[in-house]
Amino acid sequence: MPAYKVPLREYRYLLYEVLGAEAHYRALGRSDVNLELIESVLEGAARFAEDIIAPTNEPGDRVGVRRTDDGRVISPPGFVAAYRQFVEDGWAALCGPTEAGGQGLPESIGGVLGEMLVSANMSWKLYSGLTDSAVLALDRHGSEEMRRVYLPKLVSGVWSGTMVLTEPHAGTDLGLMRTRAEPQEDGSYRVTGTKIFITSGEHDLTSNIVHLVLAKLPDAPAGSRGISMFLVPKLLPDAAGEPGETNGVSCASVEHKLGIHGSATCVMNFDGSRGWLIGEVNGGLKCMFTMMNHARLWVGLQGLAQCERALQASLAYALERRQGRTSASSGAPADPIIGHPDVRRMLLTQKSLVEGARALIWFAAQRMDGALHHPDAATRAEAADLLAVLTPVVKGFVTGMSLECTSEAIQVHGGHGYVRETGVEQFFRDARITMIYEGANGIQALDLLGRKVLGTGGALARRLGGLIGGFCERHAGGGEQAEFVARLAGLLKEWTVATEEVARRAARSPDETGAAAMDYLQLTGYLCLAWSWAWMATVSAAALRTGTAEAAFHRAKLATARFYFQRILPRAEAHLDAIGAGARSLMEIPPDQFAF
Ligand SMILES: Cc1cc2nc3c(=O)[nH]c(=O)nc-3n(C[C@H](O)[C@H](O)[C@H](O)COP(=O)(O)OP(=O)(O)OC[C@H]3O[C@@H](n4cnc5c(N)ncnc54)[C@H](O)[C@@H]3O)c2cc1C
Repeated sequence: MPAYKVPLREYRYLLYEVLGAEAHYRALGRSDVNLELIESVLEGAARFAEDIIAPTNEPGDRVGVRRTDDGRVISPPGFVAAYRQFVEDGWAALCGPTEAGGQGLPESIGGVLGEMLVSANMSWKLYSGLTDSAVLALDRHGSEEMRRVYLPKLVSGVWSGTMVLTEPHAGTDLGLMRTRAEPQEDGSYRVTGTKIFITSGEHDLTSNIVHLVLAKLPDAPAGSRGISMFLVPKLLPDAAGEPGETNGVSCASVEHKLGIHGSATCVMNFDGSRGWLIGEVNGGLKCMFTMMNHARLWVGLQGLAQCERALQASLAYALERRQGRTSASSGAPADPIIGHPDVRRMLLTQKSLVEGARALIWFAAQRMDGALHHPDAATRAEAADLLAVLTPVVKGFVTGMSLECTSEAIQVHGGHGYVRETGVEQFFRDARITMIYEGANGIQALDLLGRKVLGTGGALARRLGGLIGGFCERHAGGGEQAEFVARLAGLLKEWTVATEEVARRAARSPDETGAAAMDYLQLTGYLCLAWSWAWMATVSAAALRTGTAEAAFHRAKLATARFYFQRILPRAEAHLDAIGAGARSLMEIPPDQFAF
């Protein structure tokens, strides 16, 4: 398998030619985030990802994590040294708040770095991934004291953060949780309970771990309205703010799992551990959502990053592997398999989904910048709306797509993809978790349709429809992209009609929302990627019209757009049909008759 190369030409195309990165940062009042700075991040991060992180990926998968008899968790070879360099070189602090010692760069720049690092080694990146989300939650909801003691350590990466929600009997339905927090006279709490599946719950990369734990007070209301959030450090900071006494937090075991072998997924016991309330009593889910919305976008990026690796491996293999004669045969005994139409279908499926999804995710990341930092309140609100509706699409659709892309990568390799030597099966195994954690994809679908679309009376759907519709109006004229824009406008109309129809049916029965949700998520995902591709086609068609030294690059963009519209987008019609079928065929068989 080829060594990982950050696709810098692709990154630059998106940042500068499509998304107008410099103008975006200027509008945020960040003219310091200019071409020179972006380029220095791109170049430096690419070197770090390729040279330092990528070599730890295969051993990390092969060796995995290990829990010692005394409860310590040992990460795979090379992880600790790579993490130390990550902290020392300042990558950990790239987007952290400046008041806490961070460099304060916008989130979208962190997303670019994040994609590179997850592509290089997803398991390794998971050790710092949730720290960024924890920083966001503490910065927004934590007390003055918490921000003073914990934020600088988390921002610098010297300590790491976790999010601690899941219990054996309480996964999606957090209202069932049993972990208790008893108030103490000094204003702190004693937290007791067992949590499972905690990413980086225990490990050897940092000197302390800051757990953000959901628990219930003794007199809390039943269900999800009675959940509060607590900061529970592994080691209590001493007077100098350094890791001090132990705090009754222990790792009971680590999970053995399908993928991300290098990531420690821990069963964690909290045994009267001292904790401090974050935000308001019974307001834990609100605080956790600050973390989760950030993390969900990031999980979409994880799915994309595995697809990028799988695509690079597929392409190299298809150029090199010779089997059978192709229509363009040179007369050799066998030709590279990239000449076979079906292999091209697999490669273009990956390429069109990866590049289309990257445009969508990076657009969403820019909306996160806007929602957090834009000086104009109306623009902030618009960005927050778009981010709200795009987050379940990015999490649910892109991670689902990652399974298809990484599976096609195995298929391109034939039997050599199924065995471990080529390394490509790791991407498939690692990508699989992205459909489950941070809210399983079925829940993302309900979030999109139930909360974001129907729950706002259609306001967020109109926001997204307005964005895509506005694009279609602006680019309805001639030019090479016209065929794509016309098809996009047609699909947008069908999506709008389907949305209105689902809303009418949902008013009659709640099962109608659940029955339509996954197909609606998929339909919306294909619509959004059609918009990405129409946008990129517009940019590339303009570049070709005005003359460019990189005509081949832009022609490839237009050809990939055509592939997406002709060979992938027809799937949207199937989802429209499924939505139209309603709930009956899903609900008519009683549970006891499924086995017939
Ligand atoms: C490797 C790994 C790392 C993880 N990291 C963390 C972590 O750091 N912190 C943490 O707290 N948790 C973590 N998790 C837990 C993860 O978030 C949960 O597994 C996930 O939320 C699903 O919960 P569950 O496994 O209990 O499944 P369940 O909730 O039992 O769901 C099972 C199935 O039923 C569906 N379902 C459930 N309820 C509904 C409903 N109301 N409507 C429709 N469908 C429904 C789900 O979509 C799913 O398909 C991790 C899990 C894994 C495997």
